[in-house]
Amino acid sequence: MKYESSRGKHHSITAAEAIKMGISPDGGLFVPESIPRLDENQMNAMVSGSYQEKAFYIIRQFLSDFSDDEIKSCINGAYNQDSFDNERIAPLVKLDTGVYIQELWHGPTAAFKDMALQMLPQLLTISAHKTGEKAEIVILVATSGDTGKAALEGFKDVEGTKIIVFYPDEGVSEIQKRQMLTQEGNNVYVAAVSGNFDDAQNGVKRIFSNEEFAARLLQNEQKLSSANSINWGRLLPQIVYYVAAYLELKAARILGEAEPINIVVPTGNFGNILAAYYASRMGVPIKRLICASNANNILTDFVRSGIYDRQRKFEKTISPSMDILISSNLERLLFEVTGHDARRVAAWMEDLKDRGRYEVDTATCDAVQDIFWADFCSDEETIATIRDIWRERSYLLDTHTAVAVNVYHKYRSATGDKTISIIASTASPFKFASSVAQAILEPEEIRGKDEFELLNLLAQYTGVAIPAGLKELDRREIRHHSVCSQQGMEEMVMSFLQLG
Ligand SMILES: *Cc1c(COP(=O)(O)O)cnc(C)c1O
Repeated sequence: MKYESSRGKHHSITAAEAIKMGISPDGGLFVPESIPRLDENQMNAMVSGSYQEKAFYIIRQFLSDFSDDEIKSCINGAYNQDSFDNERIAPLVKLDTGVYIQELWHGPTAAFKDMALQMLPQLLTISAHKTGEKAEIVILVATSGDTGKAALEGFKDVEGTKIIVFYPDEGVSEIQKRQMLTQEGNNVYVAAVSGNFDDAQNGVKRIFSNEEFAARLLQNEQKLSSANSINWGRLLPQIVYYVAAYLELKAARILGEAEPINIVVPTGNFGNILAAYYASRMGVPIKRLICASNANNILTDFVRSGIYDRQRKFEKTISPSMDILISSNLERLLFEVTGHDARRVAAWMEDLKDRGRYEVDTATCDAVQDIFWADFCSDEETIATIRDIWRERSYLLDTHTAVAVNVYHKYRSATGDKTISIIASTASPFKFASSVAQAILEPEEIRGKDEFELLNLLAQYTGVAIPAGLKELDRREIRHHSVCSQQGMEEMVMSFLQLG
């Protein structure tokens, strides 16, 4: 299995090279040259296996340059009892007739990013070794909150790597911030950037495309790599849980032979829902992929009109991990639905950079609408959804998952489609405790309380256990104090690496 760039200048790249590089030198994203399809027999062979066994079966299709032992060590290193508090790893919970929640947040940081970032360090160090890499790998991350912590946890003390995380000063919750600022490890660096997530992400992209900077690092025997969802090594582990969810419903005979499902995903950078798209291309019968956005509804507009226009106001919402106006992974989808037409994809991305918008042709828009459906929801609707689901179903949603549940209900009303649906739950409700508390508690119960007090109150009131990674967060030592502007990010990296 080889990989190619979505901008067309690089072909026949091994998985190890694609994972090590993270992003293609032409600015494109690495995509498999073809997608392996699992037939009915192969699907059936996986049905009774553990999550880890399913992961092995799926991941090895994409990593033909890795040995079976290497793949197994990546999987066992990621999905084990030390890091996950549920042995099913990504358990399905029934919410309603024909509606299932897939909890993707049983890893160490209580967000779905762990599903990939517990594995990426193993994939990356093996990839570096395979490609004869001598340089130390410096992971550079821009985070809307959850990626940063999950990447720090994944890479902490991993030999041959350093990790630097930039988070937007005004874009993460108190709990997310504290999770990062208390991070332990000998190779971890964290800095706040003034601005929003796109500012931080653009700053990181600029550093990645600065050749002079790369040369300077190389003299120091260091090389940059990415843990953002532009790295194929991030996407690949995410395909697994969608296939696993489908097989679980099949094994339980909830789904009949070849009966399709819908998958609903609260979307930001388009990584998680793209993994579901790849699961469908691998043979999971998916009727609709429902793309749920918050007030930053750029993807809703795109799916409906074929116009991607980022010239709009950036909205700060209570689902901050979806506060994104540049959904990087959409580029991979466009590459797929155009039959790998790198010229067209490169032109659209050029338009996005130069004019802040692009418009795809009708055939491409139709191909997207063939499988995707999109809508969005406001903060008020998010709060109301958390409250309703708690009252009616005694199930506690986080703000991101609530966006997905709300949009799923809109989908049902608009289409009448009763296909069995899986809603991706991307974070523990405790990670966004103040908004969740606001939804289910009375104003006088929460008045004057900080986010950490609300977290405890929420646990008391609901009887739901706080994930280990979020317990007593406010008592841990703050270990990181750096702050910079978008312009100062490069200098910050230099000072972290003592290149000054
Ligand atoms: C990152 C994140 C998302 C968005 O996922 P994408 O892959 O960027 O679309 C949604 N919810 C939570 C809680 C997240 O951390």
